[in-house]
Amino acid sequence: MKYKFCPLCGRGLEEKYSWDEGGVPYCPHDDVMFFDTPKPCIMVAIIKDDEILLLKQSYIYKNSKVLLTGYVDNNETAEEAVYREVKEEAGIDINNITYVGSDYVKDKEILMITFMADFVSGKINKSDEVEGMGWSKLADALDEMKEDIIGTKVVKRVLEIRKSNGI
Ligand SMILES: [Zn+2]
Repeated sequence: MKYKFCPLCGRGLEEKYSWDEGGVPYCPHDDVMFFDTPKPCIMVAIIKDDEILLLKQSYIYKNSKVLLTGYVDNNETAEEAVYREVKEEAGIDINNITYVGSDYVKDKEILMITFMADFVSGKINKSDEVEGMGWSKLADALDEMKEDIIGTKVVKRVLEIRKSNGI
């Protein structure tokens, strides 16, 4: 998002030249530059034996299930966000977080940082924000999440990694 007014004091911003970024909106009153950066978000494929945790959120995709996602808070790492969001939304514990890749969601200005992780323990206790949640067979996952383009990429990568590990 390109800021026109300062989110701190409401004054109009001016352009300030930053040697590696070009002109950047700048508030001389607060001495802050407002870079046009995306919002970091995490997505995680949680694996339990031959199953994967999928969510149903009809407001995102009417006919598809999706992987668990969440915004990265301003005081945490992407990995900490994965542990926190999984605990908050699913109520379960995970480990072996592995970076899978990143994607950019243009219309939402989101940088999606994707991971895979192993289920450790806990019974699914979904948050009220989530419509449905459950374990699906990994072999059926791609059929169940056709509309979730980034999620599909992540699951394909998970399947490749498992194959190369002989699972
Ligand atoms: Zn300001």
